[in-house]
This record gives sequence, structure tokens and C-alpha cells, in this order.
Amino acid sequence: MNDSVAESKIDQRLAPLEKLRGLEATHLLINEIYASIQGESTHAGRPCVFIRTAVCNQRCSYCDTAYAFTEGEALHIDEVVRRALALGDCPGSSGLSPSSAGHQASKTGTVPKGGDSPHGIPLVEITGGEPLLQPLLPELCERLLAAGCEVLIETGGSHDISRVPQGVHVILDIKTPGSGEEPANDYGNLKRLRAGDEVKFVLTSRADYEWARELVLHEKLAERATLLFSPAYRRIEPDQLSAWLIEDRLPVRLNLQLHKFIWPPNKRGV
Ligand code: SF4
Repeated sequence: MNDSVAESKIDQRLAPLEKLRGLEATHLLINEIYASIQGESTHAGRPCVFIRTAVCNQRCSYCDTAYAFTEGEALHIDEVVRRALALGDCPGSSGLSPSSAGHQASKTGTVPKGGDSPHGIPLVEITGGEPLLQPLLPELCERLLAAGCEVLIETGGSHDISRVPQGVHVILDIKTPGSGEEPANDYGNLKRLRAGDEVKFVLTSRADYEWARELVLHEKLAERATLLFSPAYRRIEPDQLSAWLIEDRLPVRLNLQLHKFIWPPNKRGV
């Protein structure tokens, strides 16, 4: 594919962001906000509020959220925070309006941590689509942190993660050749990882596995982040990937999409 064809493809993928034109300083393009069980990463199994942003610049062969490519509503950031905190019912944020939460935190530095409370859902994941396409993403993170939430971002790995505020944990996808999006990886992100970040590889074949294994070992990635190897749904079976991991004694974790075992695999909003 020549450069101009590739650029025109990306332009088409980003076209739905037009809905944000003129609203970039106040709104985000949101596909859905819901409470569920975190299905992946070291946080798997925990109740979690998900904020799914709309639009993605990639088209992974196994993508299970293609509906987020074009379906999105421009929502004011106050409303995004309000809905997430209402779903989380997090005592750490009770009594704080979405916009006052950050104000109180900066004034007193004493906003209680939701994680210290006996109930509520203090864990919020911002996912997509590609969250880093949203200009207001850093501010959304700051608001959620100030309200006492533990914040995760899952990103497809093609954008610079240094825009993500301190205190947020990044789950960084590295796209394998089988995804069809390996050329989009920003490998500079491997040097931008911080404590608490995780790197995920979704594997579609033995060839993908070997490719990921070489990257992990060559870059000594286990020294920088928790590593997750995930079988692409119905492309590799979990027992097959497990056997490879045991045989090679790799310093990675098997990552299964728990939500696909709990609910029908194509169910949305879970
Ligand atoms: S980066 Fe994520 S949302 Fe985008 S196409 Fe790939 S799997 Fe789908």
C-alpha cells in the first residue's frame, strides 16, 4: 500500500471524530459507559466501571468492539465523570460533584481513596476504540483520580503514552503481525512504561507467539512491566498457549478474556 492510500484509510477511520469539532475542549466522544467485571490484566475478576471512547485508527483482525469505530455521542466531560461515579457508587467520591472533585483534591489533598472503602467500585477503565484519540483524555483521568478512583487505560499502542497522567496504569497493547496492525506500533512506548503498567500481546497463531516471545526476551520487557499473553478468541486455544508458556518458561501471565466465559462472547456492555 502506498503512503497516500494508507493516509486516506486512516482519514476515513478518524472521520467520526468530526462529531467533536468545536467541542474538543469540553467533550469526549463516548461509545458506552457501564459497570461489569474486569475481564483482563492483573485486575481480572474485579468489579470495574468501563468508559469506552469511540473511534479507532486501527483495524485489528480480531477486534471485538468494532461497533465503537463509528458509534459515539459527544458528552461533556462533567457528564462522563458523573455517569462513571454514579455507576461506581464509590464512597470515595460521594458528596463531590464531578467538577468539584478535582478542586477539592487540589485544595486539600485529602480526597479519600475509593479503594479504602468497604463498598462501591473504585476501579475505572478507559478503553475504546482508542482512548488516546480524545483530546480531553488527560483531564478525564485527572478528574477520576481526584475523585478517588483507581484508573486504567487500555490503548492499542500506536500513540505516545506519555500524555497519560501519573497515577494512571496503562495496559499497552503491542500489536502482533497477525493483528494486521503491527506497523502501527509506537515502539517508543516500551521506554515510556511506568510502575504498574502492563503490556498485552493478543496472539493469533504460533507465529505470533514466537514473534512476541522474541520481543519480550530481546527487549527484556519483564523488567519493565507485567506481561500478558492472550489467545485471540477461537484462533488459539488457551490450553495450547498454556503449553507453549510452560515449555518456554516465559516471564509472562496467561491472560484470558474472563467476560467471554461469563457472558455470551458477543454480548455488549459487559
Ligand atoms: S486497537 Fe482495539 S479497538 Fe482498535 S481495532 Fe484494535 S482491538 Fe479494536
